[in-house]
Order: sequence, then structure tokens, then C-alpha cells
Amino acid sequence: MNATPSPPAPFPAGEGSQSPSPPAPLPAGVGSEALIELREVTKVYGQGPAEFQALRGVNLRIDPGEFVAIMGPSGSGKSTAMNILGCLDSPTSGAYLFRGLHVERLSRNQRALLRRYYLGFVFQGFNLLARTTALENVELPLLYRGEPRAARHARAREALDAVGLGQWEQHTPAELSGGQQQRVAIARAIVTHPTILLADEPTGNLDRHSAEQVFELMLELNRDLGTSFVVVTHDSGLAARMDAVWRLADGVLVKESC
Ligand code: ADP
Repeated sequence: MNATPSPPAPFPAGEGSQSPSPPAPLPAGVGSEALIELREVTKVYGQGPAEFQALRGVNLRIDPGEFVAIMGPSGSGKSTAMNILGCLDSPTSGAYLFRGLHVERLSRNQRALLRRYYLGFVFQGFNLLARTTALENVELPLLYRGEPRAARHARAREALDAVGLGQWEQHTPAELSGGQQQRVAIARAIVTHPTILLADEPTGNLDRHSAEQVFELMLELNRDLGTSFVVVTHDSGLAARMDAVWRLADGVLVKESC
């Protein structure tokens, strides 16, 4: 695949005097700066007697090109942390920095642009449109960006080739195996050339062989494209092959020493 194209300026200037001037667009590869940092992030759900603290002062650092696992038992806060990293939810307190930019100070629109241009998502359940071909599924994020049809087709084909499914572009999800469907979902996530891909149990629904193939594909994309990955997994065998493993327990995140 080609190098990451320069995204358009997602962050318009003139955000108000309190905000730092956000880079527009975010600069590519800014030295030793972390790609992502969470500083003392908390998340509280509900109020009063129903209040529940899902994250308790989480600190996390992900460097450019890093491939990290987040592990933890059910209810430990993994989805909450992923939703915050994916700008789908906001922390109750604390800071989220993306390449040094304070995400919590961005407007809703700017966060949407950050999601669209810099983040990719892969879920356990694939989330493909059923009566839609692999090619059209992969094109979808580009359609949301308003890219012209010919460019969409070309880039979607390139992404399907990258996941080894070039021959399957006209097939619908029902005609594909679980492993192939997840590879289509990965193609859809990388078609925008994201800086980081957030994957919530991407191999959770797959048999061992397909899980291994999907994992190998993610490693390859990490190596070849430099895409960073955060992968929630219960599979300690896979996690052991990543650059770093972070463990969540009752809303507290700790980095395992490798
Ligand atoms: P995990 O992904 O590790 O299973 P979650 O992040 O989904 O954990 O949930 C962490 C805790 O926060 C759980 O106890 C869950 O019940 C609670 N929780 C998650 N979402 C909500 C919500 N919207 N309202 C109230 N409690 C929630």
C-alpha cells in the first residue's frame, strides 16, 4: 500500500483563546512525542447511589508504531477505556492527549474528524453490512468522507488486497468465513490509512486458525504500514507477542513488565 496520504486539515484554526492551537492537520511523526497519552483518566457512570467508577486514574502511553494489548476480566473497564481512546466517550476527569493535542478540549466536530482521519476500529462482531459486497463495505468510511467513486473503489481494492481478499470483493459477508469477514472489517478499518487501529477482541469470535491469521495480518500491517494497534484480548498467547501488555483490574491499569 502507499504511504499515508496527508489528511485534510481536520482542526480549523480559531478554536477559542483557551484551547492550544491544534495542529492542522496533525503533523506526521513528531519526534519522541507519544502517539497517545492518558493521564489520570477517570470515568464515573451514573449518579448518587447508582454511581460507579469504571476507571480510577488510568495512565497509559502508546508510542507511534506500537502494538499493545489491553487485558482484563469482564467488567474491569476495557470497553470504557477503548471508547475513550476512540473518542466515542469522554473521561469524567483527566487528560487524553493525541500527539500532544488535548482531545478533551476539542469540539464534538473536531473529535469526529479525529476519529474519521486518524483512528480505525475493528470489533469482535465484524459489524459488516449484510447484503453488501466486501468492496462496498470497505468503501464505506471513504463514502462518509465524501471521496469520489473511482478513488473509493481503488483504495478499497488496495485495502482488500492488503488483507489477502482481492478475489473476494464481490462477495457478501454470508458468503465469507468468520476469518474472512474479520479481514474485510480490518480492510475497512485500514482503508482510511489510520494512525492507530483500535480493536476490541478482534479474534474473539474466531477459531484458532482464523484467529492466528487475523493476528498475523495485524502484525504485518503494523510492520509494513507503521499503523499502531491497541487490541483488547483474552488470549495471553497473542498478547505475549505484542510490544506491551497493559492489564486492567477494577478500573486500574498497570503495564506488565516485558
Ligand atoms: P469490560 O469491557 O472490561 O467488560 P466495561 O468497560 O464494559 O468493562 O465496564 C466496566 C464497568 O462499568 C462494569 O462494571 C460495567 O457494568 C460498568 N458500566 C459500563 N458502562 C456503563 C454504563 N453506561 N452505565 C453504568 N455502568 C456502566
